[in-house]
Amino acid sequence: MAQAARPICDYEGSAYRTEFWGQGREYEDAVERAALRRLLPPTGRRLIDIGGGYGRLFPLYSGYDEVVLFDYALSQLRQGRELWGDAGPGGKPRYTYVAGDFYRFPFAPGLFDTVTMVRTLHHAADAPAVLRGVAHLLASGGAFVLEFANKRNLKAILRRLLRRQGWSPFDREPVEFAKLNFDFHPAWMREQLAGVGLRIQKTRAVSYLRIGLLKRVAPMGLLVALDRLLQPTGALCQLSPSVFVRCQGGGKASSPPGAFFRCTVCDSTALVDERETLSCTDCGARFAIRDGIYDFKAPLEGGAR
Ligand SMILES: [Zn+2]
Repeated sequence: MAQAARPICDYEGSAYRTEFWGQGREYEDAVERAALRRLLPPTGRRLIDIGGGYGRLFPLYSGYDEVVLFDYALSQLRQGRELWGDAGPGGKPRYTYVAGDFYRFPFAPGLFDTVTMVRTLHHAADAPAVLRGVAHLLASGGAFVLEFANKRNLKAILRRLLRRQGWSPFDREPVEFAKLNFDFHPAWMREQLAGVGLRIQKTRAVSYLRIGLLKRVAPMGLLVALDRLLQPTGALCQLSPSVFVRCQGGGKASSPPGAFFRCTVCDSTALVDERETLSCTDCGARFAIRDGIYDFKAPLEGGAR
């Protein structure tokens, strides 16, 4: 049964790399890398970066044998492939680029020992559904490093006190502050993660110093050093605009040996690579492979369904 379509925030054709990350966000970029470095298992077999855009965080994944970049926007993945190619020096790590919808991951259950998702969940109108899918992708005991936008942050609290903001940062429900942009309460997020069997092991409060004036006048290196000192306080309290958690997956899911992709139409993992398409041997759905990118956004027309 096809589910009702849920809206996706699509970065297709956007200048995400050059405009969003091009200038003025060096501090955010540096502190997010610092947090990820502290939470990510440094080595592993197979990692997926969900909503990874052009692969901004790829340099942190060099300890993995295989890395999958997953995004909805083909243009981001094309940029990523131009930047990083298919294989690193000496043939590893091996990179795979996959386009798809985070409500229907096209991967065999339990395929990844590490999953990362940074600046992505805040575009999910149905975050619990995305987290359910992530729990399914994780191998037994695997690590999930999640970044989410925190509605209970100091700026939002101040704005609320000054009556410049209608919504309360203390209310647990997610707030959609702009179309398809959500902030989450840390307690709500903990409940959702626990609900899908993801157990939080570590929490870091990130980007406390994301203040325009401070970023203009203070040396970047100093801000980043201070942020790194503040990050571990996240274990006790989170009032920062961004929160990183590392969770451990329950990992009951497993797949037949050799399974990698999963048909988004019938859930079968029996897909055959026919150079320009992947075909599902169970339902006949076909998915395009273009310029080295697997496209699971929709099956090709004319599949024997
Ligand atoms: Zn199928």
